[in-house]
Amino acid sequence: MNPPANSIENDPLAPCLELLQGMFGYDSFRGQQAEIISHIVDGGDALVLMPTGGGKSLCYQIPALVRPGLGVVVSPLIALMKDQVDALRQLGVRAAFLNSSLKPGESQAIEAQAREGALDMLYVAPERLVMPHFLDFLERLKIALFAIDEAHCVSQWGHDFRPEYRGLTVLHERFPNVPRVALTATADGPTRRDIAERLQLEHARRFVAGFDRPNIAYQLVDKNEAKHQLLAFLRNDHPRDSGIVYCMSRRKVDEVAAFLADHGRIALPYHAGLDAAVRERNQERFLREEDIIVVATVAFGMGIDKPNVRFVAHLDVPRSLEAYYQETGRAGRDGLPADAWMAYGLGDVIALRQMTQDSTLDDRQKRVELQKLDALLGYCETVDCRRRVLLSYFGETPPANCGNCDTCLAPVKQWDATEAAQKALSAVYRTGQKFGVQHLTDVLLGKLTERMQSWGHDQLKTFGVGKDLSRPAWGSIFRQLVAGGYLLVDMEGHGGLMLGPRGASVIKGLETVHLRADRERGSLKPKSGGAVSTRRSNPAAFQGEDAILWEELRHCRAELARTQGVPPYVIFHDATLAEIVTKRPSTRGEFAVIAGVGRSKLERYADLFLEVVNSR
Ligand code: ADP
Ligand code: ZN
Repeated sequence: MNPPANSIENDPLAPCLELLQGMFGYDSFRGQQAEIISHIVDGGDALVLMPTGGGKSLCYQIPALVRPGLGVVVSPLIALMKDQVDALRQLGVRAAFLNSSLKPGESQAIEAQAREGALDMLYVAPERLVMPHFLDFLERLKIALFAIDEAHCVSQWGHDFRPEYRGLTVLHERFPNVPRVALTATADGPTRRDIAERLQLEHARRFVAGFDRPNIAYQLVDKNEAKHQLLAFLRNDHPRDSGIVYCMSRRKVDEVAAFLADHGRIALPYHAGLDAAVRERNQERFLREEDIIVVATVAFGMGIDKPNVRFVAHLDVPRSLEAYYQETGRAGRDGLPADAWMAYGLGDVIALRQMTQDSTLDDRQKRVELQKLDALLGYCETVDCRRRVLLSYFGETPPANCGNCDTCLAPVKQWDATEAAQKALSAVYRTGQKFGVQHLTDVLLGKLTERMQSWGHDQLKTFGVGKDLSRPAWGSIFRQLVAGGYLLVDMEGHGGLMLGPRGASVIKGLETVHLRADRERGSLKPKSGGAVSTRRSNPAAFQGEDAILWEELRHCRAELARTQGVPPYVIFHDATLAEIVTKRPSTRGEFAVIAGVGRSKLERYADLFLEVVNSR
C-alpha cells in the first residue's frame, strides 16, 4: 500500500519547501512553482513560460539544490552572470560562473571546485557550454539539471536571437538522462513552438502561467511636448525612482538623457552607437546605484534582473505589442506598484504606417505586419481597459476591468464623430490631398494665414467649418482617422494626408465614425497600485517616520552593497525593506519572518538592520 499522499515525510516537496523557507526566506510557493519544481526534481523536462517577475529562477534553483550533482544554468548575458551568482552566494548557495571575463587561472579553479563536488550551481555562457572539451568535462561530473534561461534567444522569431543558442540541441544528445528546463517570458505562439523544436523539448511538460502583471499600471498620454510631459510624470509619480525611458533613435536618447540631467535627474544614455565601455558602465550604474534613469533604444534591457525598476516610459511608440509587453514587463519585477507610461501622438501613427509601407517584405509577411500594427494602434486608441486589450491579444481570457490602467481609472467616452470626420476628410479632399495636419486644421478653424490666401483655401466650402472644436481636438481626430485607416499618409510626397478607402465612404455618408473622446490635457493621473494586493506595502506611500526609516534602511543597504561590490537588491529587495518599515521587527526572531530573510541573510544582516530600526 502506498502511504497517504499528504504524509509529510513522504511529500517529495518537503525538502523543497524547507529550502524555500530556510534559504530563500519565503513562506510558500507562488503560482505553478510547486508543480514545476516537483516535476523537475522527479527528472522531467520542462518548458516554463512565465511573465517577468513571475518567479522563474526558483523553478530551477531549488531542483538544482535538491537533486544530487551540479545544476548548470545557461544564461546569455555575461555582464549579468556575476550579479546572479552574487545573489545566490548571499543566500549561502555554492554558486559560480564561467565566461570569457575570467582569467584562465580563475576558470581552472572553478572547474576544480566542480570536480570536487564543491559547487551547487554553475552559470555558463552558451558558447562555452557547447565547446567539445567543456562537454567532455561535464560528462565526467554528476549533473543535476540543465536550465536554459531566456530560452527565446534560440528562436529567430524572438527579438533577441542568439545563434549560439542553436548549439544547445547537443545537450539532449549528450545527456539524455539529465532533466532540462527552458524558461522564457516571451509570450507569442510561434516563438514558443520554435523553442520546443530547437531545443528538442517537444515532449517536455509545458507550464504556461498567466501573463497578467497586475502591479503594473498602464497609462498613455496624448503626445504634446513629450519631454516635458515625461518630466511632469517623473516629478509627480517618481521623484526619485529608478526607471527606463525608451526612445526610437540614438539622437533622441542622447537629447532626452541630457534634458533629464539638466533637470536634476541622474539619467544615463544607452544605445548601440555608444562605446561598449560606456554602455557597460551605464548599465552597471543602473544596477548598482539607486534612483538612476536609463534612457535607451531597445538595445537595453534583456536579462536586466533589477527588481525595483519603478517605471518604463515610452517616448515613441514601440515596434509591436509583443515588444511593448516585453519592454514594460521590466518594471516592477518585485511585485510592488510600477508604471508603464507612453506618450503617443499623430507622429507615431505616421511613423508606424510608414514602416510597414516602406518595408521590403513580401505580401504575406506584409499582411502579418499590418495586423500587428493594427493591434498596436488598437491598444493605443482603445476606450476599453488597456490590460484587457493586452491580455486578449496574447490569447488570454481577459479579466473584468482591471482598475489599474488609465481607461479604468478615468473612463473615456466614445462619441459619434461622423460629422466632424466628414469635415476633416473633406478638408483633405478639397485641398488636393497633399497637406499636413497643421494646415488642414487651419482650414477647419478658418485661420487667414498667408499660405491660406496664396493657395486660395480661404475660398473653400470647408474653410472655417470646424470652429466649434479646438486645435487639440482636431489633432486627436486626425490621429484617429489615420490610425483607423480613414486617411493614408502620402509617403511619396511630403507626408500629406490622402483619403483612404474607408474615408471615401464616410464622406459619402455610407459609414459612421466613432472616436475616442481624448481627455483634456492635465486631467489624467491614475494612481499606481489600484488593484495591487494590499499584502505588500508600497514605499512610495510612506510618510513621516516611515519615510525616514525607509531612507535609513536604503542607506544601510547601499553601504553594504558598496563594500561588497554587489547591487543593493542582492542584499535585500525593496519589498523586504518595505516590510521591515511596516512590521518594525525588534528581535532576531521577528526579523527572521520577514519575506526575503533566509538563514544566511539573518546571520549576516539582522543585527545591522535591527540597529537601524531600534535606534528610531
Ligand atoms: P523572473 O525570473 O520570472 O522574472 P524572479 O525569479 O526574478 O522572476 O522572481 C521575481 C521576484 O519574485 C523576485 O524578487 C523573487 O525573489 C520573488 N519570488 C519568487 N518566488 C517567490 C515566492 N514563492 N515567494 C515570494 N517571493 C518570490
Ligand atoms: Zn484597466
